[in-house]
Amino acid sequence: MERCACCEERPAGWAIAAQPLRRYRGWRPVGPGERTGVCGWCARWLAQLAADARSGEGRLFGQPGANGRHLVFDDQCAVCCESPAERAERTAWLRGGQAAGELFLCVPCARWLLGLAGSGRTLQGSRERHLDGGYGAWPHPRLRGMRTWSSVRDRGAAEVIGAAAAAMGLVEAGSAEEADAVLIEAGAAADLCRELGPGAGRVIVLAGPGAQVETARALEAGAFGWVTAPSTPQQLTAMLARLARGERRGGWDPATCLPLLEPGRGGRPWLWVEVPGPGEAWATAWLVRRFSRGYDAIGAVDGGIGVVPLVPPGAVGRVAARLRQAAAGARVEVRGAEDPPRRRFEAAG
Ligand SMILES: [Zn+2]
Ligand SMILES: [Zn+2]
Repeated sequence: MERCACCEERPAGWAIAAQPLRRYRGWRPVGPGERTGVCGWCARWLAQLAADARSGEGRLFGQPGANGRHLVFDDQCAVCCESPAERAERTAWLRGGQAAGELFLCVPCARWLLGLAGSGRTLQGSRERHLDGGYGAWPHPRLRGMRTWSSVRDRGAAEVIGAAAAAMGLVEAGSAEEADAVLIEAGAAADLCRELGPGAGRVIVLAGPGAQVETARALEAGAFGWVTAPSTPQQLTAMLARLARGERRGGWDPATCLPLLEPGRGGRPWLWVEVPGPGEAWATAWLVRRFSRGYDAIGAVDGGIGVVPLVPPGAVGRVAARLRQAAAGARVEVRGAEDPPRRRFEAAG
């Protein structure tokens, strides 16, 4: 009998079915969709997670939230209440093959929920997740005394910043000018970067899935880099650690807002994620960042997105499978260290 992909304990009598949708005179299904077998307990747990995330009551770090927005229209995401532009998903709960309920979700929220459904050994009810063995359990570096200043309204993001600050021993700075690291949401980031002048190199932008233009403007104005919002404490600490190490920002790719990547150095195998269509570079880059571990190097390469996962080479296939799901079915190739990028990028900044 099929086992529940979520708890890996009980038999899977239920399934979570994900159907990608595209807006074309209304929302229409595209492609075959996927199905993850889960047990009844986990099926209810996942439905409750979605409801809790919307009401801001969840207990998982990195969960999306509605931040005071309300559901008014049918085509708002049932978790974050944003209205998706072109792509969305219908996530259905099936019991013995029969539909027992469904949610209309934006792609980031749908992938978040599906990732939890299929992650295996998800520690239900706890604030930590263990994915890919030790891959998900990197320790937080101690950056005791690093002065940080943040201006973040998103509740989930603010909680993640608080957790990361406590784990790393960060101290709060009185102003952005005095801080070693500045965390700010994308909308206000470019203006702050211009105010800070050369100090913009200390700015980390928290970018939601729709914040491409704002993120690009902040990078143009000298920001150090960006993390997704929502993000995990590990993604944030990894970015802060890069800043603390004095890593310098190089050129970046305007389509994905990612730094240019030179994979293959250090002899590690790496993954190449295809951008599925024109105009989807940012959305794909955002999903890859959102669902990768913070210590993986991610950047633009070969017209797609390169990921160098910090895992033993034997575990790379597993990371590829998870990214394929996270990036909504985008093609993901495993490349050896000896496979150099096939073409150079035009860089900005
Ligand atoms: Zn289960
Ligand atoms: Zn959403």
